[in-house]
Amino acid sequence: MLVEFFRALELAGRLQLQLNSLGDAKCRPVYREQLLEYLRAHAAALCAECRERAERNPLRVLDCKNPACRRVLDAAPSVQEALCDDCRRHFADVREYLDAMAVPYVLNHRLVRGLDYYVRTTFELTTVELGAQNAVAGGGRYDGLIELLGGPPDPGIGFAIGIERVVLLLPPPAEGREGRKPFAFLIPLGAPALRALLPVATAARASAVTVELGYGDRKLRSELERANRLGAAWAVIVGETELERGEAVLRDMASGAQHTVALPELARELARRFEVERSRS
Ligand SMILES: [Zn+2]
Ligand SMILES: [Zn+2]
Repeated sequence: MLVEFFRALELAGRLQLQLNSLGDAKCRPVYREQLLEYLRAHAAALCAECRERAERNPLRVLDCKNPACRRVLDAAPSVQEALCDDCRRHFADVREYLDAMAVPYVLNHRLVRGLDYYVRTTFELTTVELGAQNAVAGGGRYDGLIELLGGPPDPGIGFAIGIERVVLLLPPPAEGREGRKPFAFLIPLGAPALRALLPVATAARASAVTVELGYGDRKLRSELERANRLGAAWAVIVGETELERGEAVLRDMASGAQHTVALPELARELARRFEVERSRS
């Protein structure tokens, strides 16, 4: 679910990930009231824009950069303390995924997105390298968006990137990186398998093995088709059965031959095969 923005993360290691949860339809209105009450009580210390905004969209007030407002807002109630049990658990899962991938982040309870269709997780990638224009990308879950547009309720996640800012940050293109095929495509079948493969992907990448990671919510066949399209030499499959046995299935995409590898050995095994392949070519 968050894979899309992890890919964005790989673009530049010099970005900081700021993370927040805004709660859902159940707990956000409660927080909204709490915040509104606080803002009304401190209205005299806020700028005119904030006072006006508070009545329409109190969460948006948390964005204000005015130093006088900041002092008031720093002491405002935190949305993270107002989350219901479901949202709290969901947010803990998100952070667990990030930890499993060794992606550093900071919690920022003042990070809000302006639009009501955002649910729970919001995030922003920031950099100190570009001066005041520090937000490079931002986004979140917007489970309510499709319903808002007249469709069925359907979860979604998305983000916007300031492309010109990203370009400023990008290192000059390295030789031979263009059109690089992944050496292995990791296919988790289900969320527990995704959790098991996240650290493998991170470890493999740390040893310069090019791997792509599936989303965990797709059928094996469509994922194998994707591995094919990407031109991966190997597919690594972990489903429920493999998880129980602590194994992964390695599939040679060219011949279709398969064998199993113990999960704790997987990253090392991929690195070993990658080396063998590279020394051959
Ligand atoms: Zn203000
Ligand atoms: Zn909630």
